[in-house]
Amino acid sequence: MNRNRIDILGVQIDALTMSQALKKAEELARDRKAHYIVTPNPEFVMQSLKDGHFREVVNGADLALADGIGILWAAKFLSIPLSRVAWWARVQAWMQLFIIGVGVVIYPKWLTSVVPERITGVDMLWEISKLASEKNLSIFLLGAAPGVAYEVSRKLQMLYPRLQIAEVMAGPPYEPEAEVLDRIKQVKPHFIFLAFPATEQLRWMRQYTHQLNRGVLMGIGGAFDFIVGATSINDPTKGAKAVRAPQFLQRRGLEWVWRYLTQPWRKDRIKTATIEFMRTVLEYKLARH
Ligand code: UDP
Repeated sequence: MNRNRIDILGVQIDALTMSQALKKAEELARDRKAHYIVTPNPEFVMQSLKDGHFREVVNGADLALADGIGILWAAKFLSIPLSRVAWWARVQAWMQLFIIGVGVVIYPKWLTSVVPERITGVDMLWEISKLASEKNLSIFLLGAAPGVAYEVSRKLQMLYPRLQIAEVMAGPPYEPEAEVLDRIKQVKPHFIFLAFPATEQLRWMRQYTHQLNRGVLMGIGGAFDFIVGATSINDPTKGAKAVRAPQFLQRRGLEWVWRYLTQPWRKDRIKTATIEFMRTVLEYKLARH
């Protein structure tokens, strides 16, 4: 299949809607080879600029879904041309940045003309579970604090009684990595959800995809925590339970404000994913120009 990929500062994103992504995910799961799906957000892009190896793994994915309104914003912003006159181009770029930024809040649909939809890890987990229950495919839930993935599996099973949950494990640091890998090889699931931080997800994908003879590894970050209101094991305060932002904030690209308020320990990372990301995209656009 020809992929329509959009380049965001060297990171390739598949411009797909949720239903197109699901169709592709099913194809990958039925293939006689293992695959992996990544969900880049602005932090992935910033990390890729620092670490070429990280970028290579992201770009080697069979599917890269835009997890983050910042990706849709950057795709739209980079698609608008600038004047040939340098000083005017700079003014234009700032105006575009401002107008698109405000535009998202007022009319979010405007952003979707280049990358058509934001597809988060949590949404993919729900949608793939639904698909799997209808199409007889199995899933494996891996990661988060002990007991969290199990709670998620109970919720999914209640919602989709026919869903085949091949296995549920907390994984490292609570269960040895080699044991987890053996279990994956034993139960041969169609989808393996990795609830790990980005660098860990990608390490798993790079190290293990070729060792499996079928299945799709998919990175979903803190998705399990959001589903059951748990605390990330990386949370130094050990208290901030993950709660997803209300829909109206998500739609208007303001989920980061919610995360800033509910998980203040992430504030440096949120700054990188918003202000620094926008500044870097602006500089890139002007330099490329
Ligand atoms: N996590 C894990 N093993 C680790 C580190 C983190 O299972 O060694 C889990 C953590 O509990 C959380 C998820 O990985 O559920 C994502 O972590 P975090 O939210 O810190 O990362 P982010 O998605 O923000 O990069």
